[in-house]
Amino acid sequence: MAGEPQADCLFCKIASGKVPATVVRETDTTVAFQDINPQAPTHVLVVPKAHYPDAASLAAAEPQIAADVLCAAEEVAAMTGIKETGFRIVFNTGAGAGQTVFHAHAHVLGGRSLNWPPG
Ligand code: 5GP
Ligand code: ZN
Repeated sequence: MAGEPQADCLFCKIASGKVPATVVRETDTTVAFQDINPQAPTHVLVVPKAHYPDAASLAAAEPQIAADVLCAAEEVAAMTGIKETGFRIVFNTGAGAGQTVFHAHAHVLGGRSLNWPPG
């Protein structure tokens, strides 16, 4: 069924606590944890507990949970201080855009200058 946990999905395992991660925030529908390979002083991933392969399919199927992910990203930004200095929320969507883990997630990045576009 759509949204059900997938046995072979890394972020389903992190969301359920089967794989350890440094969790910074949890809600009924989302989990936020430190990226294992941070690209900025603050680099947190926000995932829905429901499994959808990317943010676009999550938004199409479960718009409220997609909104929950966005709200959680804002809360992480506030908690970590990057809301004051500027931050970026990134949803890599599809392998061609650099997505490597096919469970929807938001990157919350800040704490350094972030130029646009990165090149
Ligand atoms: P993507 O490239 O799919 O947009 O982002 C996947 C992110 O997951 C990458 O930034 C990568 O560093 C992170 N990541 C991959 N494996 C793990 C892991 O086992 N634990 C954590 N905390 N992050 C991971
Ligand atoms: Zn998953």
